[in-house]
Amino acid sequence: MTMVMATIDVASLHTAIPHTGGIKASKVLSMKGRTLLLLLSIWILLYIARYPEKFPALKFRSVVSETTTIPIIFVITPTYARLVQKAELTRLTLAFRQVPALHWIVVEDALQKTQVVRNLLQRSGIPYTHLSIQSLKDVRKARGTLQRNLGLSWLRETFYPEDAPEGVVYFADDDNTYSLEIFEEMRYTKKVSVWPVAFVGGLRYESVKVNMEGKVAGWFVKIFPSRSFAIDMAGFAINLKLILEKRTAIFRLDVAAGYQEPSLLQDLVTMEELEPKADNCTKILVWHTKTQTPNLRNDKNFTDPNVEV
Ligand code: UDP
Ligand code: MN
Repeated sequence: MTMVMATIDVASLHTAIPHTGGIKASKVLSMKGRTLLLLLSIWILLYIARYPEKFPALKFRSVVSETTTIPIIFVITPTYARLVQKAELTRLTLAFRQVPALHWIVVEDALQKTQVVRNLLQRSGIPYTHLSIQSLKDVRKARGTLQRNLGLSWLRETFYPEDAPEGVVYFADDDNTYSLEIFEEMRYTKKVSVWPVAFVGGLRYESVKVNMEGKVAGWFVKIFPSRSFAIDMAGFAINLKLILEKRTAIFRLDVAAGYQEPSLLQDLVTMEELEPKADNCTKILVWHTKTQTPNLRNDKNFTDPNVEV
């Protein structure tokens, strides 16, 4: 869009001025002026090419319009620097790059975006948006919350509800394990779709109770079953237009652990409106895995700190 504007601006100077003053544009704009304008246009184009992430709308439209007619899956992933970060994100790229029409919104828990993540994204072959926001000091219980909310803000800044592409939003933590099937289950979500998640809440899996009519009738969980939406972050996806229309719905920081998910969902849907996926919530297609911190007991100044792991 800006690219087009840059050329239109120059062209419209030539055509508009004769109408107002009856003087030839070439006289108003000296050779020097034109050269300056040309240089300015080139500079703008180079700037956009160098920093595409500063122009999300521009970058995004070019990604979307050419590649897809199926709904786009916007995956929001909070991530933070630690020994296994690159390994975790690499694992995700192997899955995500196989999913058609997936746009990855990676939000670093950091003051500034890091080179490690930037390089990984550039090489991933996945359409992405790279953002960062640092967590407040004492938000242990709300890990990833500010980052997920920034992902939501980016979507709301990038699209108007009226002309947004068909799409769905999914929150994918960087340490979980995702099947390819889960993305096709969620792709055509009308409001909010749900499915089981393994290894969460002290169970082999948590799920939702689905009644004879195929509607969600309750929660198959042990921890806080009275929550309005007793469901893990990895167990639901939300229609993009719903996110755009309900502009104030966010994950709240001021709630107890386990109440993040309901704090967002209760502003978006009712339980009756939920769409059960994965064979009426009987198939496990996502796992809430946790990666062990590697043991470095033999590594007191042994390996080269300049080698990135
Ligand atoms: N995370 C983060 N900052 C932190 C801790 C975690 O951005 O200080 C991210 C992390 O990378 C993951 C998500 O937030 O994508 C959830 O964190 P974690 O997996 O540690 O939480 P759990 O699975 O134990 O709920
Ligand atoms: Mn986790």
